[in-house]
Amino acid sequence: VPELPEVEIARRNLQRWTQDRTVTGVEALDPARSPVAPGALEGRRVLAWERRGKLLIGRLEGVTLFSHLGMTGKWVRDPAGRRFLRLRVALSGGLEVGVLDARRLGRTWLVPGRGDDDPAVARLGPDPLADGVHGTGGLGGLDGELLRARLAGGRGAVKTLLLDQGRIAGLGNICAVEACFRAGLHPHTPAAELGAEDLERLARGLREHIARTLEIEDGDEIAYVTQGGHNPFLVYGREGAPCPRCAAAIARETLAGRPTFTCPRCQPPRSP
Ligand SMILES: [Zn+2]
Repeated sequence: VPELPEVEIARRNLQRWTQDRTVTGVEALDPARSPVAPGALEGRRVLAWERRGKLLIGRLEGVTLFSHLGMTGKWVRDPAGRRFLRLRVALSGGLEVGVLDARRLGRTWLVPGRGDDDPAVARLGPDPLADGVHGTGGLGGLDGELLRARLAGGRGAVKTLLLDQGRIAGLGNICAVEACFRAGLHPHTPAAELGAEDLERLARGLREHIARTLEIEDGDEIAYVTQGGHNPFLVYGREGAPCPRCAAAIARETLAGRPTFTCPRCQPPRSP
């Protein structure tokens, strides 16, 4: 499942491939998931690609193309002949890009203008990479103070609140599991019990996880671990394997229907 780092890599690729090119053709092969009328896009120049959380935001002259990758979606170049091709966009200079989506849970759609009031973007909290400017900032704004402000008043486990896209946009299950391990915090700890030092460690864990994932997954195409790719994570998907820090067996639990992986020794649950 694409989370902030994977979507950021997709944004950088789209920016590199398509910026300043003009759309010359569009083929919506799955109109239910990609309601993009060719006439509304053709002839327009691509200005930039931004990102807010897991949402890709293509700025073209006069219109905005939103793209959510769902569970398995990916943008690729030269998509001709690829399986699960849902949308094809041809650009000046002979370049083509397209959306592949086996599970059909992603969505790509076009709105006039900037689309800032589109529900898909209006409901999102701040993006930890963005630093106020979508998709261009560094990770510096992701600190304990931001977590304190965005998790304030939240009831429930810290992991659940981290996944709430209205609080912070872009974090997913893998981000939360890996950051909690790096911070030595059990993901099921009630957020209200976290002190300033816990939040600093958690913020550092998130920064380290995002920075490392951006580095190791960089490439023209996202390889999802759940589709059999190599597992680059410290504890995610490693039930029973030795903890990289203390060698205890990694445990797997479920919270709100999603798997949580922890080291029972490095991340002991807090006693009340
Ligand atoms: Zn451990």
